[in-house]
Amino acid sequence: MKSLVVDADWDPRPDYDVTETERESRKAMNASQVWRDPELRVTERERPVPEADEVLVRVRYAGICGSDTSMIGTDDDGYVHYSAYLRLPNVVGHEFSGEVVETGSDTRLFEEGDLVTAEVTDYCGRCHMCRQGFHGHCEHFEQLGFTIPGAFSEYVAVPEKILWDVSSLREAYGDDDEVLKAATTIEPSTIGYYGLFGRADGIIPGDYHVYHGVGPIGLTGMNVSRAAGAGKVIAFEPSDERREIARGLGFEHVYNPIARDPIEVVEAVTDGEGADVHVETSGAVLQTYPVIQETLAERANVVHISNAGSDPEVALRELQGNSAQVYGSEGHTGQQVFPRVIRLMAAGRLDNLPIVTSTFDLPNADEAIHRAAERVDGKVLIEV
Ligand SMILES: [Zn+2]
Ligand SMILES: [Zn+2]
Repeated sequence: MKSLVVDADWDPRPDYDVTETERESRKAMNASQVWRDPELRVTERERPVPEADEVLVRVRYAGICGSDTSMIGTDDDGYVHYSAYLRLPNVVGHEFSGEVVETGSDTRLFEEGDLVTAEVTDYCGRCHMCRQGFHGHCEHFEQLGFTIPGAFSEYVAVPEKILWDVSSLREAYGDDDEVLKAATTIEPSTIGYYGLFGRADGIIPGDYHVYHGVGPIGLTGMNVSRAAGAGKVIAFEPSDERREIARGLGFEHVYNPIARDPIEVVEAVTDGEGADVHVETSGAVLQTYPVIQETLAERANVVHISNAGSDPEVALRELQGNSAQVYGSEGHTGQQVFPRVIRLMAAGRLDNLPIVTSTFDLPNADEAIHRAAERVDGKVLIEV
């Protein structure tokens, strides 16, 4: 079967302390300190045989994520930008949909022909973190497309416990092909959903939401905010193309933060009340935090999702004076999120299909990743 594989040289930076576990497992905790001179190639590999607790999925569509492009982008010394867990070589890709073609001997939830998508993080269920309910921070976790083979491939083997059925989307999307295309946007939607409702506290219908940066996570997040009853959704994004996509989704308050002063915009659009919810999805925190801190409504929630390379100055007095909170939000597993996002899509209240702006065939998957790295698309899909 064909797969897109990322490989690189294991060459830890001289000042990076490689742990024993990292060396043995080749699972770097911070890829940007270890993996150098990445390479991308479409290769022939053996079709996986599902383990007892796994299901084999024939992949239909897979979306390209910022994390995928950051595995091939490098700094001046050739180290990859991606700064979390990564074991190479690996088949990348984690935002996917497909059809079940084989089930392991110990599975019970799925059968051949089921349409599915999956969460990213597999967990042991037995470690200290898992036993407290923090499966996303499992001490023995593996991540599809990061530490174990992912979905830019004809087939992917997935642990049954992180797989979700998406056949309920048939009513909203009609034919199975549209269902599977839409289902690739479930994973990115869960990122915003978890930040807003798994981490932040007390977001209520009618709140004003402001998105800083509308790449795929911002765009799907805006859709989640609207589905959840936001009073207004305001977005700042420097890319013309991405602002256009946001407007195409029906959002009215979409601005270029370079051309317009974001503080004045938020004050005008919220009638001086400020933002009840700020969502940081740009990573340009040195530019966005001064805006966020100047436009907080009383009891505002700041949801920090982006992977920022630097630290902004935190205006404690502003946060304190507005009874505001900053919530860090990252990888999660379980916690009600996937099934809720699927319900919203099945009800026709969350539709991300217009965000998909380019589609490439699997043999051209490397081209697709380079295209996504230009950061002008909503979502780039690979069709298998
Ligand atoms: Zn992703
Ligand atoms: Zn665990």
